[in-house]
Amino acid sequence: MIWAKYRNWLLLLVYVAFFLHVAIWHHWGYEGVGHLGFGELFATFRNGVVTAGTIFTILVFTHAIFFGGLFCGWFCHWGITQDLAAGIMRRFGIKPRMTQLNSKIIPWVWFLIIIAQVVLYWIFTGFPTELSFNPSATPVWSGVPRSILLICMTTLASGFILIFLFGERAFCRSICTFRLWFSWFEKIAPHKVRQTRECQSCSNECTTSCPMGVQVAEEVKILGHVKNQECVKCHICIGACPHAVLKTSFRKNEFHKDGEQIVPPAALSTSISWLQTAAAVIVLVLFGFELGGNISLSLGFIAGFILIHTWRSRRISSIEAAIAALILTGMYFRNDMNDLTSLAKGLVAIAVFLLAARNLDFNRGFEFISSKARDSKVPAAMLGIVVMVAIFLGARETHNSIMFHQANAAKNSNDLNKFVSIMEGCAGAHMNPANAYFDLANAQLALTMYEKAADNFQKSLELSFNERAADSILEKMFILGRFQECLHISEWLIKHSPDIPRFRIAAGNALIQLGRLDEAQKSFAETAERFPQSHDALIALGEVKVSAGKSEEGLQHLEKAHEIAPASASYHLASLYRRLNRREEAEKYYSEAVSADPDNMNLQIEQGQNLAEQQKFRPAIKIWENALEKAPTLIDARQLIEAAKFELQKRRDAILGK
Ligand code: SF4
Ligand code: SF4
Repeated sequence: MIWAKYRNWLLLLVYVAFFLHVAIWHHWGYEGVGHLGFGELFATFRNGVVTAGTIFTILVFTHAIFFGGLFCGWFCHWGITQDLAAGIMRRFGIKPRMTQLNSKIIPWVWFLIIIAQVVLYWIFTGFPTELSFNPSATPVWSGVPRSILLICMTTLASGFILIFLFGERAFCRSICTFRLWFSWFEKIAPHKVRQTRECQSCSNECTTSCPMGVQVAEEVKILGHVKNQECVKCHICIGACPHAVLKTSFRKNEFHKDGEQIVPPAALSTSISWLQTAAAVIVLVLFGFELGGNISLSLGFIAGFILIHTWRSRRISSIEAAIAALILTGMYFRNDMNDLTSLAKGLVAIAVFLLAARNLDFNRGFEFISSKARDSKVPAAMLGIVVMVAIFLGARETHNSIMFHQANAAKNSNDLNKFVSIMEGCAGAHMNPANAYFDLANAQLALTMYEKAADNFQKSLELSFNERAADSILEKMFILGRFQECLHISEWLIKHSPDIPRFRIAAGNALIQLGRLDEAQKSFAETAERFPQSHDALIALGEVKVSAGKSEEGLQHLEKAHEIAPASASYHLASLYRRLNRREEAEKYYSEAVSADPDNMNLQIEQGQNLAEQQKFRPAIKIWENALEKAPTLIDARQLIEAAKFELQKRRDAILGK
């Protein structure tokens, strides 16, 4: 049976399942099965939490003991994306040329980074002492770039461009660290592509069709099976064989012979591979956290090649210039919002690349790869500089990583002084500096280092502005009575987001607390003028006018606010009328305020007090009794009821002449 013809359907199903999983989690809100990435296994080594991803990884690699790299041929979403890219390119008249990329330096570097992260974690935080099971501990889609444009750019770089330059599955063959692991399993797995009959005369279709660059015909003729550890059991060679000689099977047959796998020499010299690896490490360290490991490594790999090719040919080819321009433009807009326009931009970038690849001449580049790159040496000085930069950045990153582990350990043991002193030196180098500054500021706040906390809160907002975080920072500072810092941050926020009236109001409130009433009045007046529909601005202006003794003016502003948002302004009006001894008007607004916020017991207490102040004891008692029914522990209400009843009794006694 030729399974290869069903592969496209299965690949499609994998993507359907992939997006269904994302939709179930993020759209429909069922969070039973979390992220299914292989990295979850290493997270379990660190923290002892077994997630859905851990189970998935164990299942996949248990299966690999028998089936080797079959997962890569049939189930990996990234393998599928590359196959799709290759298919589109062929449809577009661009035939990917296979380049043997036998260097495994990048997968090893990536693998060692993962191992080092686990080891560092163990050193500073200790081994996990117990295992727990939480299938949804890591949200679905984590580890995938959030911006649609960035996903398209990743597909462009790690799919289309790599395939154009180096042939199908170039990412799998040169960058993916998981392929490295699968290749170890492939060595022991009994499931192989096997010869079932004598080969007949052909054009080695099996070899030329193999997306992994395996020398299928040679291996089959010499060994009777495909021994190459790069085989992903995609069945393409089986379908390509004109004499149907091949099939997969677990059992060795009469054609099986032992021997070494046949690996043709790499098409790129070792020094070019080193240059590309070092460039990949540089891009990974500089941009990896922002862009993701996949695209960073691919971009470095491509950049290393373009660098040496340009150096050797003393000119940059038009397609290389187009690739560079596309990537730089895409990276500039990488945080584009997730909407259909960013998808359209991403697709346009891919279309532009396809047009360039089809119409711009790159024959010299391919000639360089096929005839010169194998022996071409990268100038020692160039290689030395790039490798040194990579080592320096890698060492700096390792140092920072150690610092963050130490900081986390200090935080976990509640040693905030140590946490602050470490983070003050390295927060900016964190993979998420905005969060790092935010955490640092919170710790400084707890240690009453208010000014520094305010500065770091501001830095955090500068790096990644978030309205909700800004509100919570202002609220914290206000509650702690740090009005100067509150004013300082509000002023920055006003400059950053001049169209958000809330920040101006926060600045005005801070000014009031600092006793700068005139400035507060001016600030609120400007805000109310600039945002005539902002009831909050009108309320703030009304209140500050009242505080300045201008009650009538204050009332006018509050009435205006009431026209815009009755529910928000009614309490302020009620309270002001009560303060002005205009209790009947206050009564009307208290009723409105209570119906808008029926669970606010303080409001009901005040409403009753306003009535009691008008000698309307019975309705007041009724309101307080209602409040007591809802909140039986409301001591104020109980006392007020008793006092009102006492007044009523006094009145009765007076009437009866007692
Ligand atoms: S090599 Fe990596 S990217 Fe390629 S199919 Fe396998 S796991 Fe996926
Ligand atoms: S040898 Fe055949 S089954 Fe293995 S990767 Fe190549 S085409 Fe696919």
